[in-house]
Amino acid sequence: PEVPVGAILAGSVRRYGDRVAFARGGEELTYTDLGARAAAFAHGLIARGVAPGDRVALRMPNCLEYPVAYYGTVLAGATFVPVNPLLPEPAAARQTTDAGAVLTVTAADVPGIVEGNPPAPPDVPFDVHETLAHLAYTGGTTGESKGVRLPHRNVVVNTLQYACWVSGSRPTLDDDGGLVLDQVGAETEWPTRLGTGVTINLTPWFHAMGTIAGLNAMVLMGFTVVLHDRLDPNTYLADAQRLRVTAIGGAPALFAALLACPDIATTDLSSVRVISSGAAPMPVEMIRRLHELAPDAVISEGYGLTEVTMCATSGPVHRSGTRRPGTVGVPIFDTEVRIMSPEGEPVPPGERGEVCVRGPQVMRGYHNRPDATSDVLADGWLRTGDIGVLSEDGYLSIVDRMKDMLLYKGYNVYPRELEEILAAHPAVRAAAVVGRPDDAVGELPVAFVVPADPSVTEADLMAAVNEQVVAYKRLREVHFTDQIPVSAAGKILKRELRGRLAAAP
Ligand code: ATP
Repeated sequence: PEVPVGAILAGSVRRYGDRVAFARGGEELTYTDLGARAAAFAHGLIARGVAPGDRVALRMPNCLEYPVAYYGTVLAGATFVPVNPLLPEPAAARQTTDAGAVLTVTAADVPGIVEGNPPAPPDVPFDVHETLAHLAYTGGTTGESKGVRLPHRNVVVNTLQYACWVSGSRPTLDDDGGLVLDQVGAETEWPTRLGTGVTINLTPWFHAMGTIAGLNAMVLMGFTVVLHDRLDPNTYLADAQRLRVTAIGGAPALFAALLACPDIATTDLSSVRVISSGAAPMPVEMIRRLHELAPDAVISEGYGLTEVTMCATSGPVHRSGTRRPGTVGVPIFDTEVRIMSPEGEPVPPGERGEVCVRGPQVMRGYHNRPDATSDVLADGWLRTGDIGVLSEDGYLSIVDRMKDMLLYKGYNVYPRELEEILAAHPAVRAAAVVGRPDDAVGELPVAFVVPADPSVTEADLMAAVNEQVVAYKRLREVHFTDQIPVSAAGKILKRELRGRLAAAP
């Protein structure tokens, strides 16, 4: 359906009414509360002169005010500009200036419960194909972050692509033009039924995975979303058992932390129907351990990037679907994936090349960056900057990011291959591999490792990896560390690790 993002909220407010949408600490926000407060917020913006297409920056951590301000912004026809609240002032200002934001909203700016009769959402006309719902900045993992232009159509489509996939449902419109999902097929076959889901959320809403999977899709599916302000594995597991959560979602860093918590062995996770991972590669060993702990849950890994709103592929969630650990599944509805050679030719199945994506969720280009846009967009195809392989039957594996690949004497070395071997080692809790520049050979693979067993040595790990790989891929150094630095969105910050190497030659 060609509807604005506000239709997601409208449909769920009518269908799920008094059900709790979001809870944090002792506070709760029902779907009805959310609808009323978002409409009031939208009227407030309009009263301040905010017009359709004006950019409104939201600079706040996940909190109950966030969905109010988010839906209020898009209901007013304004463009949501998410700003990571942890960004220092100059970096945040660079983003809001680049975006041309007319207003920056913090949690304190969001009014509380609406007194009296709640207002109806404002009726502002705009074109869902043209007006931007989001101007979302990329994570900046590999460089300066860029503003990604996403009209309403993209956000609605990608929310549907994801939500219909994980809940086994199909979209329709209710009598008042609200977007709702209808369950299809045998309900019990699907991992989570509409309007009964409970989840704990730690995924930041300023990031693509948060805004689409963690916020919009949850509202569309009628979930109750319990917010945790920070990851405390003991509290997370205790709440997961107490609240009988049905879905667990996040970046692999979340699952790594949970698996490292001794309480996990005694936590009852039998209510969990779906475990959904994204944003970074999920080691095969992690999937195996999660499956052991929650045998009734479907574990699904998705792949995407801000430039495709959020996701392009996903592992099957249908119980009878074939899951392939180590792959990111198949293209989701209405999405095409192809693998291209450096010369711009499609490569056959089984061969490596750049992952390219086409579909209705692909961005309208980078904001203020025509050159960067034409580098990655042509004929509706987006070049992702990721190296991947498609199998004969259409499963995508992400080999690595092009920018993280190492060159050793002209040979390509993919750090992720070495990271997978390390992650499967029982003495390793977490690992990341980067290159040490070397005048003679190009780059040498070096690992940073958080040990799980204090008695393991650098030499042990080097030997364990190097006996499994050809000579040019061999690890040359292992450095033990307390922590692998990850971004707020859960991506390993390789430039920080390269910095550590440069500082300690
Ligand atoms: P920048 O592009 O500014 O460096 P970023 O890469 O952090 O920022 P995002 O859009 O947040 O921007 O991240 C997208 C990237 O995350 C993808 O290009 C891919 O490299 C990686 N990614 C996402 N999901 C997966 C996955 N399941 N497996 C492997 N990599 C993934």
